[in-house]
Amino acid sequence: MAEKHKPAPMVDEVSDFEILEVAVRELAIEKGLFTAEDHQRWTEYMETLSPIPAARLVAKAWLDPEYKKLAVEDGIKASLAVGIDWVNSMPTHFGTPSDYCNLRVMEDTPTLKHVVVCTLCSCYPRPILGQSPEWYRTPNYRRRIVRWPRQVLSEFGLQLPADVEIRVVDSNQKTRYIVLPVRPEGTEGWTEDQLTEIVTRDCLIGVAAPRPGKTQNDKRPVHPAVHPVQHGH
Ligand code: FE
Repeated sequence: MAEKHKPAPMVDEVSDFEILEVAVRELAIEKGLFTAEDHQRWTEYMETLSPIPAARLVAKAWLDPEYKKLAVEDGIKASLAVGIDWVNSMPTHFGTPSDYCNLRVMEDTPTLKHVVVCTLCSCYPRPILGQSPEWYRTPNYRRRIVRWPRQVLSEFGLQLPADVEIRVVDSNQKTRYIVLPVRPEGTEGWTEDQLTEIVTRDCLIGVAAPRPGKTQNDKRPVHPAVHPVQHGH
């Protein structure tokens, strides 16, 4: 039977990493480290995560100086007020080696800007901030943000005056960070819900600043090439 229309593949490409993940997972299940049901439960839990709890934490901190103090002193405790229990709400009930950790809430000021990276790999406070964006995991971002933070932030569209100090905080297995940005002008009298909306994922990583009316994450700017590749010879 001639087949004129081949069905489209389910995925365009399976990466080496995905093949490795399946192999390690199947081995771990075979060895009894966890069950297939545990894995399913974990995957479903991970899919529920988003940056909204972290955004709400920031909104609450803007509105309540006492809560802000708690957030800066003990991010894990402050997370409880936004529905994230780092110890008990995980499907495993004991956290995970990579996620149960010390959450630090880094407070910006008008003259101090924090930005988060994991120079070693891709550590990220997933329970409170969801999955990391792809660019966060790239060697390009990880290498360049520590060397040329001002330049890299400007590539994200965040131009900082020269008198603003930039501190790059480097995540690791036990310590994860979110940024508590400066509350922008024009938000006087706003409710917690209104404030939560403008604290985007990128604001929480530190590569963007919140502003009224901006509720989406920045698209990475695309600049035309200075010397475009010539087609043909
Ligand atoms: Fe990492």
